[in-house]
Amino acid sequence: MRLSTPAFVLRRVRWSESSLILTLYSLDLGRASAMARGALRPKGSFLGRVELFSEGEYTLSRREGREMDTAVEVSVVRHREGLRGNPAAFAGAGVFSEWLLSVVSHGNEPSEPVYHLLGLVFSLLEEGLPPLPVICGGVQRLLALSGHGMTVDRCAVCGGSPGESPRWNPLEGGAVCGGCRPGAPRVLPGILEFLSRSAETSLDRAARVRLWPGGYRQCLGLLREYTEAHIEKRMPVKALRTMEDMLDAT
Ligand SMILES: [Zn+2]
Repeated sequence: MRLSTPAFVLRRVRWSESSLILTLYSLDLGRASAMARGALRPKGSFLGRVELFSEGEYTLSRREGREMDTAVEVSVVRHREGLRGNPAAFAGAGVFSEWLLSVVSHGNEPSEPVYHLLGLVFSLLEEGLPPLPVICGGVQRLLALSGHGMTVDRCAVCGGSPGESPRWNPLEGGAVCGGCRPGAPRVLPGILEFLSRSAETSLDRAARVRLWPGGYRQCLGLLREYTEAHIEKRMPVKALRTMEDMLDAT
């Protein structure tokens, strides 16, 4: 069966001398893997069309019961040169892609909102917005769209105010009050406030909010802990480390 769908390239793995395996997030299929035969040949028809983070219209050949599709034809919709030309934006796009691939498995229903979120995160990074705020806001939305939404403006247990020294319990849904869970670790009220406001505004606006020094790293740490508790596995940290090293160097 052949089908055509817009998709982003989230990972490229070399398969042979001349071929690549692409991990795609597609509008109509969700997460998909596609073999791109001859993609590394200097005169191949895929040359320059399956770059990391680029968006293309993919014609895929799909066989029932197989997890791997074959890419037949690709025409580029957006090259996203701006992501590959700016190290901080590139690292940020890598972190968001890995986060998405941790949360979204093969066989999950395709999600149009997730597809558009991916495009928006890439666009904001391409515009040169600082990667950490874009990723924090983007991950918060990704989790909500994937059925792992978090409670930040009230206690997830009793529904009351989280109080002046709120606690954090990922498995119970996020913020909890000291009355319900006195033993849970504390969370900075400023982070809850940021996440609560971020949920009510556009990602574009949320990503322009300034926090105290180190605030976004703390926020990202919180989101990671929350994600790992919900997907019940550790996330790959390589992309995150690369991004932090890059931010330290600038
Ligand atoms: Zn409570």
